[in-house]
Amino acid sequence: MSVAKKSLFQLQDLILTIYIPPQLRLVKDGKDDNPERKTFLKRVNIDNPHAPITVYNDVDDEPCPPIKKHFKFVGSLYYHPTVVPPDPSLYVGCSCPGGVCVENECECAVPGQGFSYLEGGILQYSGDEVYECNDNCACGSNCPNRVVQRGRQVRLQIFKTAKKGWGLRSPEFIQAGQFVIAYYGELITLASAEDRSFVYENLSRGSMSYVMDLDFFFDSEDDEGGADSLPPPEKKHSIDATTYGNVARFANHSCDPNLVIVSVFKSKNVTNLYDAAFFAVKDIEPLTELTFDYIAGNSMEDEEGGRAGGGAGGEGVSRSALQLQECFCGAERCRGKVWLKK
Ligand SMILES: [Zn+2]
Ligand SMILES: [Zn+2]
Ligand SMILES: [Zn+2]
Repeated sequence: MSVAKKSLFQLQDLILTIYIPPQLRLVKDGKDDNPERKTFLKRVNIDNPHAPITVYNDVDDEPCPPIKKHFKFVGSLYYHPTVVPPDPSLYVGCSCPGGVCVENECECAVPGQGFSYLEGGILQYSGDEVYECNDNCACGSNCPNRVVQRGRQVRLQIFKTAKKGWGLRSPEFIQAGQFVIAYYGELITLASAEDRSFVYENLSRGSMSYVMDLDFFFDSEDDEGGADSLPPPEKKHSIDATTYGNVARFANHSCDPNLVIVSVFKSKNVTNLYDAAFFAVKDIEPLTELTFDYIAGNSMEDEEGGRAGGGAGGEGVSRSALQLQECFCGAERCRGKVWLKK
């Protein structure tokens, strides 16, 4: 190799070293010499090869989050055998002329509000429910009313935080209203979620619980109560990401979060099963930790009563799986102590 060529390569190396912070560098498959991390990355990267998930740790020498052998990363909800998945052939679809969904005419839009998404899939009604188009609609996959169903598009990184264990962030800028990821796991009934939390609680004090209740609203034909009435436990659903889950399970709590959970329905007639989708509530700079409020809508005074996340739109981690702990979220309006995963 000529001297000129060699120095050009050295210059390239130098530029790479100077301008690309290590947490932004992609560890190419073959170049990562840690077998544990390599296996982890293979297991976690199942949903979008164009937006790879990476792992970064400059706090200690743990190569990747400890994941049990029998844990399975999933790219969609996994239905426990006791839960009947909704039948997609029964979904109510729109009949938009020419297969083009137009905001104020599409039956899938919210009457008087139009589509939940602005151009580019940006959510415009943060905190509300969203009804996307489905397979029985006249439109195709590029309809503006299909965002969460297209899956994660944002690159994510699991990184070691100073005080909260592993957390989640993105090397990309995320715009306010942008869809980040849905919380996936095993879909179980609330009755079994409460049983499980009890079991998890008693199994080991150090074990984390990853149960998120889906209690946006309950629509029962037998009951007049509507949105405010509580369903019987066997009709209520929770997402348990203890044994099945996706990268969303690494998102930590914050009292001033940058993500919000939105209930995204596949059809207007299927109201008890839906995706719990994380959307950005503010512009998020690259490498900022992604957080959500585990107990949105709950105050500190509400210590004894009921489960966390009650109320309309109030998905949260199951209260029985939480305990009052010192909060390390670092937010200016931190509650100090907060119900956190055990
Ligand atoms: Zn339509
Ligand atoms: Zn539609
Ligand atoms: Zn459509």
